[in-house]
Amino acid sequence: MDRARPGRRERHEGQHRVRRRWAFGAMAALALALMVGGAGALLGVWPALGLVGLVLAVSLVVIQRLEARARDRRRSAEERLADRLLAGFPGAVILVDDAGVVEQLNPDFEHHAGYPPGQLLGRRVTTLDVKPLHGDMHHALNFAAARGQPWQGVLACRRADGERCYQDTVVLPLLEEPDGRRRLLLVQRDVTRMRQRYLHDQMLLEQLQGTVSRLPAVIFQARQDTSGRIGFLYLSEELQRLCGLSPEAVLDDADRLLKRVHPEDRDRLTASIAQSAVSLEPWWLEYRLLVPDGVRWLEGRAVPRRRRDGQTFWDGLLIDIGERKQAEQRVQQLVGTDMLTGALNRRAFFEQGEAVLALAERHGRRVPLAMLDLDHFKHLNDTHGHAAGDLALQAFAMSCRDSLRPYDLFARIGGEEFAVILVDSDPDQAWEILERLRLAVEAIELEVDGVMLRFTVSLGLTILEPGGSLDGALSRADRALYRAKREGRNRISAQGPSVTSRGAS
Ligand code: GH3
Ligand code: MG
Ligand code: MG
Repeated sequence: MDRARPGRRERHEGQHRVRRRWAFGAMAALALALMVGGAGALLGVWPALGLVGLVLAVSLVVIQRLEARARDRRRSAEERLADRLLAGFPGAVILVDDAGVVEQLNPDFEHHAGYPPGQLLGRRVTTLDVKPLHGDMHHALNFAAARGQPWQGVLACRRADGERCYQDTVVLPLLEEPDGRRRLLLVQRDVTRMRQRYLHDQMLLEQLQGTVSRLPAVIFQARQDTSGRIGFLYLSEELQRLCGLSPEAVLDDADRLLKRVHPEDRDRLTASIAQSAVSLEPWWLEYRLLVPDGVRWLEGRAVPRRRRDGQTFWDGLLIDIGERKQAEQRVQQLVGTDMLTGALNRRAFFEQGEAVLALAERHGRRVPLAMLDLDHFKHLNDTHGHAAGDLALQAFAMSCRDSLRPYDLFARIGGEEFAVILVDSDPDQAWEILERLRLAVEAIELEVDGVMLRFTVSLGLTILEPGGSLDGALSRADRALYRAKREGRNRISAQGPSVTSRGAS
């Protein structure tokens, strides 16, 4: 409930009255002094004093009369105002005495308050309150009467038919009567429909918030101020599930969320936001967030708009795309992987091989590369069947992967031909790794239909100098492999000036 402060008009009138009295007093003192002086000179002292007393008495009576008339004028002005309000105000206007008993109602009262005037005249106005004895109207009347100040607020009232309504009410204390009583003017405007609309809107808003909080996405509104600082104005509850941060914490400090962006994705995020802010094109980005249980892939989409004051706002959503990313990675793996052995396929080998070579070239490093071919494999197929050959290829690939390091590239580039790029190894290390691999293959014992199969592999090694081509290295390694076959198989042969062939078995 609102409470109004003392009226400015009342304060102003009080000051004016004090000033008038001082002026009048000064003039009376001056006149008195002149009269006493003049009469004393003409009549002598005692008659002069008598005359002055008479003049003073007459003056006092005149002053009182004048003040009473001024008060009457003000009261009648207030009454005229009250009458005008009573007659023309588009709401309920009620005049009550100091005990809150209704003296007068405006003609339109029934229409606005739903009460026939006859029912209310002579009764306490608190009858209108939903709680006639202890309701807010009772307190409002007491406040206005005791302090001589207006009261304003919304009161819950009841119509004659019992229906509850809400009245925006002003209780105005009128000027005190000579006997000290103070009448009050109540002015009411029905705001029931406005309140119903407000409650309805409130309910819709709550429903909407419920829907938003159940969506499997974070709805947000973000703002970039003119100094470039980013903050959030709204974040839906889903944020908590998505990354373990409460919306309140991030609304308070956006850095709490921005700091969680994967270090490798931060530059892309900053650049994409800046681009969207400049071009006002929709923002879209797939990026990773560091969450308590690891990393989460998100897709962010938002539509920007710029306000006249230069601030940019984005309305958008963040979606968890972890499952989609996993599926994409699975497809990517399948596309780049040989189905039988799980090794990289030819295409992936060339793609990833080029990337490894580019990196090595930047650091001026040499890269060992080898070709591998199973020995007499045709014979194994012919003797034990194609299925046994497949099992042998799988066992071979598994053994190779065990001998190599996870970051080495191992690919099946033909039927039973494989290639290896040994990342971060010098020629001597490469030879040792491949020799270990050769021995591991030699040691494989594969039981197929009760028969123990064994097989061996020949290898051709070369070294790729910085700036060299992958194709060129592969054909050199192939030539080395051919020599290994020629020299008796199950061995490593090296091709190129920088590799010393040490022979194997
Ligand atoms: P070498 O020691 O000279 O290499 O003799 P080799 O018999 O291994 O000769 P080559 O490398 O030319 O033989 C390739 C054989 O590999 C021919 C084919 O039957 C077999 N092969 C190729 N791809 C597959 C496959 O996917 N599964 C099976 N089981 N055999 C395959
Ligand atoms: Mg072959
Ligand atoms: Mg072969």
